[in-house]
Amino acid sequence: MTRAPSAVQAPAGVLLIEDDAALRATLREALQLEGYRVWAAASLADARALWAHNHRDPGIALVLLDLGLPDGEGADFLPHLRGPGGPAVIVLSARQGEDDKIRLLDTGADDYLVKPFGVGELLARLRAALRRRGQVVDAAITHYVHGGLQIDVAAHRVLRDAAPVHLTPTEFRLLARLVRSTGRVVTHRQLLADVWGAEHTEQTQYLRLYMGQLRAKLEADPAQPLFLLTEPGLGYRLADPAD
Ligand code: CA
Repeated sequence: MTRAPSAVQAPAGVLLIEDDAALRATLREALQLEGYRVWAAASLADARALWAHNHRDPGIALVLLDLGLPDGEGADFLPHLRGPGGPAVIVLSARQGEDDKIRLLDTGADDYLVKPFGVGELLARLRAALRRRGQVVDAAITHYVHGGLQIDVAAHRVLRDAAPVHLTPTEFRLLARLVRSTGRVVTHRQLLADVWGAEHTEQTQYLRLYMGQLRAKLEADPAQPLFLLTEPGLGYRLADPAD
């Protein structure tokens, strides 16, 4: 396994604007597993509010923009986003007319994906758009193999001594977040923000509870963990298989 660079990078922020609840949930989860900080909006009004509160601090590097929204046209949001240092914009739309694409690209969109699209393609285009904006984007660490524990994040598979382990969705998100930073400390605040959302960064009791559940499922002796290590006062670290 390649060791991640030691410089700590803030995760890129993504504003996801999509009124289809199922697609929104799917994309939010896929983006979070890749390590992005995600704000999700179901309408133009939501999107405007989230943009106003977050685009400077902590920062939104990319916007995924659906066109048909319940309170208007996604395209009407584009003028808010232009200007120096503005985010990359990828339009998500069922409309596939060439004129639509040309108009959107001319008014500031960086890319255009026609629904239905594969999540893998979206993530690749998103990385490309961020790279063009000068952001360093590492492919996420998605596999972990160490002392009888095997984790494949993309396949949602966890094996302990070759036996499948059933995790709840929250347990899985927490574990996937630690896999992405294998060998490095992830702070309590970062874990809470990435797994539960930016509004829950003070709820360290969630972390203690879910870390206890994960250890009970993955560790031979939860009191003496080999994988899910505590960094007192800081956070948690998934043991580096190379250590
Ligand atoms: Ca829509």
